[in-house]
Amino acid sequence: MAKVESFSLDHTKVKAPYVRLIDTSNGPKGDVISNFDVRVSQPNKAYLPTAGFHTLEHLFAKYFPKYLKGYVACSTFGCGTGFHLILWGEHSTTEVAKAEKKILELIANKVTWKDIPRVNEHNCANVNDLSLFSVKWWAKRILNEKISTDPYVRKPI
Ligand SMILES: [Zn+2]
Repeated sequence: MAKVESFSLDHTKVKAPYVRLIDTSNGPKGDVISNFDVRVSQPNKAYLPTAGFHTLEHLFAKYFPKYLKGYVACSTFGCGTGFHLILWGEHSTTEVAKAEKKILELIANKVTWKDIPRVNEHNCANVNDLSLFSVKWWAKRILNEKISTDPYVRKPI
């Protein structure tokens, strides 16, 4: 099983956007769970405004389960630069980056307001802080910059 550095990441050394395997761990019955760093902007240089970031969270939660097996959760980093993606089993960064790319292409080209899930006060705790304009702008920017399958050396897909 892949053993990688986890919480010792030097944020000045990475080249975003990228997908990085943070760690894998085993449950008591031997199941493997993987934690990925899906970084969408360069640490300490750029971050997503909350409305665009929050909308991307809703759309990742809708579309990652369609494109990746074993989806558990996708949650925002407080810094506004990326997401934790949790998956059952082991997966390559290429597999995750390809799924992310497909979702960003959908957002950039096809997604409309009605495609954003859970835009109501029952299912979202800050329904007024969502932006289709911002999420499309950021999806195009991330696609332009290209998603790397390695956090340190640019290996764009
Ligand atoms: Zn929400």
